[in-house]
Amino acid sequence: MNKKLSCPDCGSMEVKVGRQTYYARLSNYPVKLFNRDSDIEYYFCAKCGTIIKQVVLNPERFNDYEQ
Ligand SMILES: [Zn+2]
Repeated sequence: MNKKLSCPDCGSMEVKVGRQTYYARLSNYPVKLFNRDSDIEYYFCAKCGTIIKQVVLNPERFNDYEQ
């Protein structure tokens, strides 16, 4: 279970959630013909709008990070 989120800016516990979709999806790079991508979910403060947390909803679709 997630721990309760609160706004780091104003301290409000009133949090809302929305999703970034379509062309603002996070894409694998370099982009391929059948590109793999994911929506991003945003948790934000209902009072001041500060984004508290972002989550890539399909992390398994992406390349591993290499140094
Ligand atoms: Zn806030």
